[in-house]
Amino acid sequence: DFDREIKVVVLGNGGVGKTSMIRRFCKGVFTDEYKKTIGVDFLEKAQFVDALQEEVRFMLWDTAGQEEFDAITRTYYRGAGAAVIAFSTTDLDSFKAVSGWKDKIIAECGDIAMCLVQNKVDLIDRAVVSPEDVEAMARQLGLKLYRTCVKENINVTEVFGYLAELHHKK
Ligand code: GDP
Repeated sequence: DFDREIKVVVLGNGGVGKTSMIRRFCKGVFTDEYKKTIGVDFLEKAQFVDALQEEVRFMLWDTAGQEEFDAITRTYYRGAGAAVIAFSTTDLDSFKAVSGWKDKIIAECGDIAMCLVQNKVDLIDRAVVSPEDVEAMARQLGLKLYRTCVKENINVTEVFGYLAELHHKK
């Protein structure tokens, strides 16, 4: 079904797990190497979404931190129907940056489907932000919160299923 096609952008500071998440979702592969991709990788995944009772084609672009360059930014955001705003459990700056990422999405794409993702929950012992503060941030931004562990493939599929559902409702 051509209509059930959605471009999703995954945003957040460097090192929060964006590349890993995209690769995990699209291929089920997790690599432990920190890899700075050059340019933009494009990945695609067809996934049955329970809430819609339909298969959705997700299209993901991995910019690997290149989005600071204007030309890439515009291509990256163009036509996006949904966005993941990710931060890491162990990186306070990445948490503080989430509202800025939301503003950026709204500036580039308008009010598209979005959610907040706290990644690396396996490292909760080293958390730099309390669960309450994370929940308060999600509430303040009006975003549903998902806690993920890309490394162990926890909650990743759920994030994309939710975004497809929200995108469908908008
Ligand atoms: P990006 O810069 O946001 O694209 O982040 P990467 O996907 O390159 O990931 C940065 C580092 O975090 C890599 O070493 C990943 O292996 C690691 N990483 C990603 N997700 C997780 C996770 O859920 N748990 C842990 N412990 N490490 C993760």
